[in-house]
Amino acid sequence: MKFSGFKVVKEALTGHKGWTPLWRNPEPKPAYDIVIVGGGGHGLAAAYYLAKTFGKLNIAVLEKGWIGSGNAGRNTTIIRSNYLLPGNQPFYEFSMKLWENLEQDTNFNSMVSQRSIINLIHSDGQRDAFRRRGNAMMISDAGARLLSREQLKDMVPFLNFDNARFPIKGGLMQTRAGTARHDGVVWGYARGADMRGVDIIQNCEVTGFKIEDGRVLGLETSRGFIGAKKVGVSVAGSSSRVMAKAGMRLPIESHVLQAFVSEGLKPTIPGVITFGAGHFYVSQSDKGGLVFGGDIDGYNSYAQRGNLPVVEDVVEGGMALMPMIGRARLLRGWGGLLDMSMDGSPIIDKTHIDGLYLNAGWCYGGFKATPASGYAFAHLLATDTPHETATAFRMDRFNRGYVIDEKGVGAQPNLH
Ligand SMILES: Cc1cc2nc3c(=O)[nH]c(=O)nc-3n(C[C@H](O)[C@H](O)[C@H](O)COP(=O)(O)OP(=O)(O)OC[C@H]3O[C@@H](n4cnc5c(N)ncnc54)[C@H](O)[C@@H]3O)c2cc1C
Repeated sequence: MKFSGFKVVKEALTGHKGWTPLWRNPEPKPAYDIVIVGGGGHGLAAAYYLAKTFGKLNIAVLEKGWIGSGNAGRNTTIIRSNYLLPGNQPFYEFSMKLWENLEQDTNFNSMVSQRSIINLIHSDGQRDAFRRRGNAMMISDAGARLLSREQLKDMVPFLNFDNARFPIKGGLMQTRAGTARHDGVVWGYARGADMRGVDIIQNCEVTGFKIEDGRVLGLETSRGFIGAKKVGVSVAGSSSRVMAKAGMRLPIESHVLQAFVSEGLKPTIPGVITFGAGHFYVSQSDKGGLVFGGDIDGYNSYAQRGNLPVVEDVVEGGMALMPMIGRARLLRGWGGLLDMSMDGSPIIDKTHIDGLYLNAGWCYGGFKATPASGYAFAHLLATDTPHETATAFRMDRFNRGYVIDEKGVGAQPNLH
C-alpha cells in the first residue's frame, strides 16, 4: 500500500476500509542470511537499507518487546549535525542529508521538521569554542551561523538574557537541524523493510549466541533457535548485557536519561534551544508541550526510569533560561537506557567473532544518527567494509588511543 494524498481522499470517501497493517507479524523462519538484534530505529534502519540499497532479501529483525519500545520511542527527537571532530562531523552530516529525504524515501510521514537549533553562548571562551565548531560544520557543508546577543533577542526574546550567573552572549545556530517524530521514524523504516521482505519478529528476546570455532551460527531466542550467517547487534542500552552472552566485555556503561513534557502551551519556541551553562535542551511539540531534558541520572542502571534529583536539576536549568516556564505544569516524564561509550562516540564494527557485528555506544545522541547508523551498519554487514563516513567508529580505538572525544572530558562515560 502506497501512501499519497489521493489515497487519503479516497479512504476518507470510502469509510477508511482500505488501510492495511504497516507490517506483517510473521513466525520466525529456521534461518536467515542476516539477523539484526534490536527493533529500535537503528536496527530497523539497518534492515531497511540492507534490503533497499544492498539487495539483501533474507533478513530478520528480532525485538524482545515491541518495535520502538526502547530509546527510539523515548527520546526528545532532536536531529542535528553540529559536531566538531573529523571522526564525527561527516557522519552526522550524512545522517542529516538522509533525514532531509527520509519521508520521500520511505513514503511515510515521519514529521521531519527542520526548525533549527540554537546552542546558547554564555562566555567569551565559549564563543571561541563555538566559532571553531561552526567552522568545522561549514567545512562539511552542514551550515552554521554565529548569532550576536542582539540577533538572538530578536529571535527568542523570552530568554533570560541578563541572568546574573549565566548571561546570554550569543548563540551558534544550525538552521537545518530540528526534530522528527520518533515513532514515525520507527514505523516508516519498519514498513519499508517489511515491504521488501524483511521479517520483523516482535516479542522475541535473544538469550544466547551459538558460536563454534570462532564463528556465529545463530541465536537462542525466547521463540527458539534461529540460524544466521551474520548477526548484527543493535540494542543500544542493552549492548553490554547482550554482548556478554557472546563472551564480550564492551567499553560501554548503561545509564538512565530522563525526558519531560509540559502541558500544551501556545507556540513559543521556534526550534530547539540548548543552555550552554548547564545541561538543558528544549523544543516545543506540534501539540504545544515543551519537550525537554538534561543530564543523565549519574549511576549505572538498566532501569527505564529515573529519580527525582535529576528532575529538579533539569527543571532548574530550564528556569535559569526561561523563568516563565515555572508556571507551566509538568505533564509527563520517563526514562530510557543509554549506551554510554568511554569517549561519547559510537561503535559500528565487526567483532573478533566471525559473522558477529556491533552497533552501539550512542550515548545521548543516537536518534539523530538513526539514518546514517542504519546505512553504515547495512554497508558493513553487506560488504564487510566500513562506510566512508564511519571509518573512525572502530572498537579498537580505545586500545590504540584514537578516541573521538567530542566533549574533551576524557574516558568518563557519565560526562559525555
Ligand atoms: C530520554 C532520552 C532522550 C534522548 N534524546 C535524544 C535526542 O533528542 N536526540 C538524539 O539524537 N538522541 C537522543 N537520545 C538517544 C537516542 O534515543 C538513542 O541513542 C537511540 O534511539 C538508540 O538507538 P535505537 O533507536 O536503535 O535504540 P532502542 O530503541 O533502544 O533499540 C534497541 C532495541 O533493542 C531491544 N533489545 C534489547 N535487548 C534485546 C534482546 N536481548 N533481544 C532482542 N531485542 C533486544 C530493545 O527492546 C530495544 O527496542 C535520547 C535518549 C533518551 C533515553
